[in-house]
Order: sequence, then structure tokens, then C-alpha cells
Amino acid sequence: MAARHDQTTDPVLLDGLLQARRGTAFFARKLNELTDEDLDGDSLLPGWTRRHVVAHVGYNARAIARLVEWAATGVETPMYPSVEVRNHEINFGATLSPIALRNLFDHSAVHLNVEWRDLPADNWHHKVKTVQGRVVPAEETVWMRTREVWVHAVDLDNGATFKDIPEPVLARLLQDITGAWHTRGTDKDLLVQVTDSVTGQPAAMVFGDTTAPSPTVVSGPLAATTQWAAGRGSKGMAATHDGGPLEQVPAAPAWI
Ligand code: ZN
Repeated sequence: MAARHDQTTDPVLLDGLLQARRGTAFFARKLNELTDEDLDGDSLLPGWTRRHVVAHVGYNARAIARLVEWAATGVETPMYPSVEVRNHEINFGATLSPIALRNLFDHSAVHLNVEWRDLPADNWHHKVKTVQGRVVPAEETVWMRTREVWVHAVDLDNGATFKDIPEPVLARLLQDITGAWHTRGTDKDLLVQVTDSVTGQPAAMVFGDTTAPSPTVVSGPLAATTQWAAGRGSKGMAATHDGGPLEQVPAAPAWI
């Protein structure tokens, strides 16, 4: 009989699993608050209804479970055969009946959780490949899922905000996003400052083009800053240039 508890004893990984499970429970709660009719409504993502978001989050769990199975068996199973297949799957999923859509979310989340739970401690270090082609240890699948469930719960647009997302998740997400800008060089002359103090983080959380002589400075609390960086609006943010306030906060560089 399979064990009913995680096989890993790594405290960092167990903490990460907790955030992923909390995020999944949070997404489930927001989804349950929506009536079947509400599912037809718009999400915060351009061109996507809430149905698209739920389908995407469901298929994402299946895709991540395939990576965990890869780490468990050594048999290469990619997240998606191609980007086209991924997109087609989401568009198809969005046409499912409300009950089928809700089942897709529930069953895929349970399946992924079982794959994580039963993955032997050593296999968490086995390398797998993400849809972007990055080679990462299986441990990374936990973070990949964590950011999906928390951010897309907000995208359902029925009351969740970035303030609902735990600080460690926000901090890591902001680091991820600004790191991606930096790698691509899309953060030129843009400095990002978090204005509130965050537990476990340096007193000054500063990202972006930190060596620019005269950058545009975009600042706000961690939740608002991460929301802005993720391309989901500039509510709660302020911007200055050469010490003077800007009337409009510039849009963040693209994330993905
Ligand atoms: Zn997503």
C-alpha cells in the first residue's frame, strides 16, 4: 500500500509543498464560489473567460504530473507535445460542461498531489524539462504549480487579490519575473522598489536596472508590485523619474 505522507523529508521542499497545497485549496474555494453561469464570464486575462482559466489550471496540473512521473520512472514524458497542443487543449477544455470542468480541476489536482506524495526522496533531484525547455530538478515542479494556482485564482476575478497570496510566494514570484526581464534585457532604465518590509527579505527589496544613472522608479507594497510586475494592473503603484512623480505608472515589461 502506498504511503499516505510525503516521501521527502527536506524541510524546504515540504514548505514549498505546503504553499502549493494551500494555493490549490485557495483556487478551489474561489472556483466553488462561482455559479455555473459565472464560469461564462470574463477573467482578468485578455480573451479568456473563467472557463479558459479553469481548463488551463486543470491541464497544467496534468502536465506537471507528467514531469513528476518522468522523475519517478526515468521515462521522458514532456509537459505538452507542443505549444499548439497546449493551446488547443485549453480552448477545448473551455467548452466542457460546468461539472466536467470542475471535475477536471479537482481530479487533476488530486492526481498531481498523489504523484508528489509518492515520489521517493532521491527522485526529487532527477532532472526534467519544462515547456520552455529549461532543465530543472523535479523539485521545481512544486514552485511551477504554486505560482499557477495563486495567480490564476486572482485571474478568476471574483474577489481574490494579490494581497491574498502569501508573502514568500509573492517575493519569489517578483524575483522570478524581474529576473526574467534582466535575462532578456527588457528592464533597461527601470528600477522597481518594494516599499513595505517583508518578513525574511532584505530591508530594501530593489529589482530591475539597479545601475542605471537616471531610471524610472516604480514602487509600491509587495502585493501591488508583484501584481504590476505580473502584468495585472498598476493599482497601488507610483512612479517617479528624476525625483518628479509621473502621472502614469508605465506598464511592466512582458513576463512570459
Ligand atoms: Zn498559467
